[in-house]
Amino acid sequence: MTDNITWHNHKITRAERSANKQQKPCLLWFTGLSGSGKSTIANALDVALSEQSYHTFLLDGDNVRSALCKDLGFSDQDRVENIRRIGEVSKLFTDAGLIVLSAFISPFASDRRLVRSLLPDGEFIEVFMDTPLATCENRDPKGLYRKARAGEIKHFTGIDSPYELPARAEVVLDTSYMSVDDCVAILIEYLHERQLITRRA
Ligand code: ADP
Repeated sequence: MTDNITWHNHKITRAERSANKQQKPCLLWFTGLSGSGKSTIANALDVALSEQSYHTFLLDGDNVRSALCKDLGFSDQDRVENIRRIGEVSKLFTDAGLIVLSAFISPFASDRRLVRSLLPDGEFIEVFMDTPLATCENRDPKGLYRKARAGEIKHFTGIDSPYELPARAEVVLDTSYMSVDDCVAILIEYLHERQLITRRA
């Protein structure tokens, strides 16, 4: 199927694209149960970075599923393809020199590993939202846990579909006791430590 396809090397390199933006690209990959705070924290970090004039882009589950991945469901096979596509898109955005924030349940360790393998060392930052299931279910911001418990949604992560715990996430956050501001501060600090961002006036 790929026989007649030739890879073109672009004239403008990845390094030039990020140099133009005066920043280093990276991918912050938020993984965790539904309701664990992935979107909330990714959005808050996006705002904090944008306020400091960093060039960012946020990709999140429902938005991608209603467009790029609208042909995919929630079977194991479709979940794998969903993450593969998002991983490739996230990588393209880092090639454009952006700091990318991707918020997806991404329950399978092998899929997260695959996305990690697409990025240069140090550019994939796995952010594990380690919020307990009970808290997520209690919040139930979209009413999905209630439906899953009632059997109206099948293959719901944490209920009747597994979530494989990250073994070596770069950052672990638990929003059952950490505030949004605390989580953002921890992430900003991590980016500073790794010299992915610098202190801007
Ligand atoms: P996910 O993207 O993981 O499904 P969301 O960010 O959509 O999770 O939902 C998390 C819910 O929890 C939101 O309704 C948010 O307002 C609420 N919440 C309460 N406290 C926190 C906190 N400290 N951090 C993040 N979200 C919180």
